[in-house]
Amino acid sequence: MKRDELEMHVNDVMNAIPEGSASREEVRSLLTRYLNDLKVSVYEAKRTVVRKYGGDVHLLSSRIKKIGDLRAGDRGVTVIARVVTVNPKEITVEGVKRRVFYGFLTDETGTVPYFAWQLPGNVKKGGVYKIRNVQVREWQDKLEVRISENTEFIEMPQDAVPMTRKRDILVAKVADLRPRMGAVEVTGKVLSVERSIVETSDGMKEVWHGVLGDETGKVQFSSWGVAVEEGAVIRVRGAYVGTFRGMPTLVMDARCEIEETEEDVEVRDPVVSLSHLEKRGGYDVRAEGVFIDIKAGSGFIKRCPQCGRVLATTSCPVHGHVSPKPDLRIKAVLDDGTGSAHCIVNREITERVLGKTLEEVVEEGKEMLGDYSFVYEAISERLLGRPWEVRGNAIADEFGLTILVRDLKPIAVNVEEEAEFLLEELR
Ligand SMILES: [Zn+2]
Repeated sequence: MKRDELEMHVNDVMNAIPEGSASREEVRSLLTRYLNDLKVSVYEAKRTVVRKYGGDVHLLSSRIKKIGDLRAGDRGVTVIARVVTVNPKEITVEGVKRRVFYGFLTDETGTVPYFAWQLPGNVKKGGVYKIRNVQVREWQDKLEVRISENTEFIEMPQDAVPMTRKRDILVAKVADLRPRMGAVEVTGKVLSVERSIVETSDGMKEVWHGVLGDETGKVQFSSWGVAVEEGAVIRVRGAYVGTFRGMPTLVMDARCEIEETEEDVEVRDPVVSLSHLEKRGGYDVRAEGVFIDIKAGSGFIKRCPQCGRVLATTSCPVHGHVSPKPDLRIKAVLDDGTGSAHCIVNREITERVLGKTLEEVVEEGKEMLGDYSFVYEAISERLLGRPWEVRGNAIADEFGLTILVRDLKPIAVNVEEEAEFLLEELR
């Protein structure tokens, strides 16, 4: 048996036995003894060695899987894939600098990030390989292929993986972005951006946070280590979508290509359906619907001046006896026929809905001898059963869909009503 071939079988065994149960040398010499001295078949020899070290013989039959079929926890898997990117990176492990590699692997069924402590010299960007003995784990909400010292790269012809440029990285519009959709390509205009320095496990890093827009909407982004300029139109290839505070976030790092393009992108914010938002949330979105419920706790409320808690009495559970601060808010349910959202409306917009300031409400309440129920009634009359346009951040989480309302406009049923509202706004 050729030495290369023997090493391949050693790899297979190493991968099928518990870590630390035997060294490569032990496995190699035992395997050689079975093969040469005892004349056992390769198949039987490997199984015997695996059993001896308490391993799982099922892991021996290196399974060829498509990238689209990979699952977290897969071990001893073989993929035939194109190496899309090879990015070396220096990291510090226990005080020692090490060079690692990361990038993307792709086949006709999907794209997956990889991480390697080391890569054989023959592995090049764009090359197609049969990659034997990889592990798959879930890391930061996405699958990642781990390449170890037991992984082998066998060069394959280019046509072993069809070139599917448009499919390996999904070309998406901003409104389509949702967590776990894999690598995406997005083109958009940088509407705002701010640079900051953050401390991470491998040192201080520069990160740019901002908002990117296209004709379908806006999304928050973070760019790790790559400067992004306000006003620029950029094409990002290989970014992924994470979640931040119930909204999708486009995450760019050294794995992706960011280029400035001459393309003109018109940023718009079309009305989106609530069913669309229920699945992913959205940054600064616009929805239209009818208010079907005004929740208790809407209208005139009192808050603890120190922590902002809504209080029913003059006593805060944390701060004890306080002089509560008056406030106005609305908690209402908007329905657009496809779904519904809880809308939270702050004081300023509640004042516009009422056509009264908080001070006027407080005065009026005094005349009513402290009975403020007229506020809830006025809000109900103004909102319930009527069509409104709502703008704000849509948070999709385990509690459902919540819109933190930044703007609220009646959808004019007649001109008079709209004129009345516009006049209120001018007050
Ligand atoms: Zn308090």
